Amino acid sequence: MRFYVPTEVYNTQNCVERYATKLASFGKKALIVTGRNSAKKCGALDDVIKALESNDTAYEIFDEVENNPSMETVMKARDFGLKSNVDFVIGIGGGSPLDACKAISMMIKNKDKGMEMLYDADYETTYLPTVCIPTTAGTGSEVTPYAILTVHKDKTKRSLPHKIYPVLALTDSKYTRFMSHENTVNTAIDALAHMLESNLNTNANLYNRAFSEYGLKVWGVSKDSLINASLEEKDFNNFLNASTIAGMAIAHTGTSLPHGLSYTLTYELNIPHGKAVGIFLPGYLKEYAKNDSQAVKECLNNLDFKDIDEFKNYIDTVLGKVSFDQTLLEQDVERIMANEKKLKNYPFKITAEELIDFYEV
Ligand code: NAP
Ligand code: FE
Repeated sequence: MRFYVPTEVYNTQNCVERYATKLASFGKKALIVTGRNSAKKCGALDDVIKALESNDTAYEIFDEVENNPSMETVMKARDFGLKSNVDFVIGIGGGSPLDACKAISMMIKNKDKGMEMLYDADYETTYLPTVCIPTTAGTGSEVTPYAILTVHKDKTKRSLPHKIYPVLALTDSKYTRFMSHENTVNTAIDALAHMLESNLNTNANLYNRAFSEYGLKVWGVSKDSLINASLEEKDFNNFLNASTIAGMAIAHTGTSLPHGLSYTLTYELNIPHGKAVGIFLPGYLKEYAKNDSQAVKECLNNLDFKDIDEFKNYIDTVLGKVSFDQTLLEQDVERIMANEKKLKNYPFKITAEELIDFYEV
């Protein structure tokens, strides 16, 4: 058995301020990578600027990362970072800026390489030190080695083959309180999916299951607050902790079929990541239970759901109705069935009809 999650993580109130010296310790000049607004709105950008200035560390800001960032945005930020001669990269935001910042740190380090390096596993993975400060509670990207980018030519999103581990993660739920309720729900469901998909996974072992099982319990304690939009401080903390713990679980195993099915829906219909994954979770559990009902039961117990029907009702209630043209799903399933890599984390044989049924239950 192997378990490797090398990121140094601090989770505490006013984390950035408390660990300012550490944050500033990776070089003379930082490239700060954010989305367009939220890093400013939630106060995280100001906190990082103060931390760097109090340590006489220079910085430049790239604030153009879009949701589901593209390869083109990564290359634009890389050019900006190279011109600015930066030594390390700080990502602030949801999974989109954090994933972008990992890819940017690799491309700055490999300044002679073109965009093709992003998806070419033959290149050795080297990158600048990368610090991640999450402002959503969903992806766990602050501790995972993954970066998922939009690949326009393939009309979908894909995970890089390179493993880019952040050197430092500073997590503080005071930032996540600025999310809209819809965004809080969608991102929390992403974390839930990570715990389920890492637990019910071909690569699962005792270590990552320990993270997943504990994370499901932490998530389950706060689950009702998503239904009635009544999150208190403890709930924001629980979802952020569960999200980081879920990241530790998938760092080891990767995700599985619900994530695989979600990417085209996000690309084609702009359905937010967590929501696009979440709609497949009840069907995934139902199908998985045909082969291993005990494993599914344990996951549901940890979340404090009595059975799959109760779980499905909950998901339908928090996510609302999501409808789309069935043909899109059928085409996507056809692509997945033809790609061994997309199926390998699911431990049982599965047919196209069964995959389509993930949505129909
Ligand atoms: P996101 O795409 O990063 O952000 C979604 C929206 O939330 C943006 O409009 C953003 O605004 C806003 N936002 C972020 N933090 C906020 C805050 N504190 N207050 C108010 N608004 C806030 O959302 P995400 O769900 O966290 O990330 C999704 C991405 O992560 C997808 O590309 C997905 O594939 C990827 N992902 C990666 C991993 C991994 O292991 N690396 C795992 C799962 C998912 P701004 O644009 O203004 O910032
Ligand atoms: Fe995800």
